[in-house]
Amino acid sequence: MDKFKEECGVFGIFGHPEAANMTYLGLYALQHRGQESAGIASSDGDRLHVSRAMAYVNDAFDETLLAELRGQMAVGHVRYSTAGESRLANAGPLVINCAHGEIAVCHNGNLVNASELKDAMVSDGAIFQTSTDSEVILHLYARSKAAAPEHAIVDALSQVRGAFSLTILTKHQLIAVRDPHGFRPLAIGRLGDAVVVCSETCALDLIGATYVRDVEPGEVFIVDRSGQRSIKPFGPARLAHCVFEHVYFARPDSYVFGQSVNEARTSLGRALACEQPVDADVVVPIPDSGVCAAVGFSEKSGIPLRMGLIRNHYVGRTFIEPRQSIRHFGVRVKLNPVRSILEGQRVVLVDDSLVRGTTSRKIVKIVRAAGAREVHMRISCPPTISPCFYGVDTPHRSELIAATHTLEEIETYIGADSLGYLSLDGLLSAVGPAKESYCTSCYTGRYPVAFPRDEATYLQLALKLDKGEAVAK
Ligand code: SF4
Repeated sequence: MDKFKEECGVFGIFGHPEAANMTYLGLYALQHRGQESAGIASSDGDRLHVSRAMAYVNDAFDETLLAELRGQMAVGHVRYSTAGESRLANAGPLVINCAHGEIAVCHNGNLVNASELKDAMVSDGAIFQTSTDSEVILHLYARSKAAAPEHAIVDALSQVRGAFSLTILTKHQLIAVRDPHGFRPLAIGRLGDAVVVCSETCALDLIGATYVRDVEPGEVFIVDRSGQRSIKPFGPARLAHCVFEHVYFARPDSYVFGQSVNEARTSLGRALACEQPVDADVVVPIPDSGVCAAVGFSEKSGIPLRMGLIRNHYVGRTFIEPRQSIRHFGVRVKLNPVRSILEGQRVVLVDDSLVRGTTSRKIVKIVRAAGAREVHMRISCPPTISPCFYGVDTPHRSELIAATHTLEEIETYIGADSLGYLSLDGLLSAVGPAKESYCTSCYTGRYPVAFPRDEATYLQLALKLDKGEAVAK
């Protein structure tokens, strides 16, 4: 489907007899944040154990593998590659042994100065084994002259810029860190005497843990046998919570940035109905992404909500297309229209985003083919005009239809009778009172953390910007 790709999900647990099993379940709940690889590292106090695979969580581990991940503390990672290629060496957790001892790192986010740091270290003789920006953190850690591992971590992270929500395991400590801007979410929970850290609270729910609070932007949260403590070693920075977590990435049953995602997403739909009203008979969500916003749109507009498109949840990675072409097969195999709901009706389709427009165009066509009299498209966020540099896989700017086309042109391209987006103000009002605390760069092109131009090469971002464009504002 035509969406931004989620980045990574991270998890950590300290003080649980089934640490690896709990981590497995936590990753299972976070699978939507990364589907290319899954990995767990555990510590039994003497050494770290690690298992990683290029697979879904369910396929990456079995009972034997989990039994080998001994110890009462563990960290886990699901990954979709945003920086670095898709291969096992890049899968998390990244584990090294150095002067500070063994360490495993799970990283959600992108560092914007990784390439300049890497180049400097490579000129100095360093050998990198992966093409991820996360490995830069490990090199900086290994080189730190700080006495204790936690100080070496702070030393390393003081040198990087950009987005990082981390779960880190040493032989004796679980450490969770969030960058000072707070780009990506990171929550702390409690499971009996065990402490849990995870990208989204839906992972706490699955293992029966209770949400305690978020790791604060700029906080280093350390858990070991002596208890829990926090330090805030980084200077103050402008908050930049990724607003797209509320729009699309996070699961609606999660709380991120202290807000219910379901409530935020439903509010987006209500705001959309106020800003972009339309005379219609039925509101139909694009499943599953548009469901919450469609509920809000229907509530506010009074137009009944019907599930006029049904999603097939069993389309797997091994799917084989037929040799003979079938019209709109790619979309139809995932979404099928319900003729009894659509026939003769004026339909409002609601989705959470419109990236290239290719899928929306096909969906409008199959809804019309099912007999809809009018098809109106409503999008519960502003036009997406800029790529993300903070841990989200986005197409090049030239492929973002709203960056290169007017509203009318997009409307014509997707074949809708009308098209309406939520405004930036509407979006920010719907996600909560702290409007200034969000990153909205993919809607504005104004980036809260500047990055050097040559960074584009290492992070493979060059292609995402048009030639000669300013890279930092
Ligand atoms: S640019 Fe968009 S996707 Fe990236 S962090 Fe900012 S709001 Fe999130």
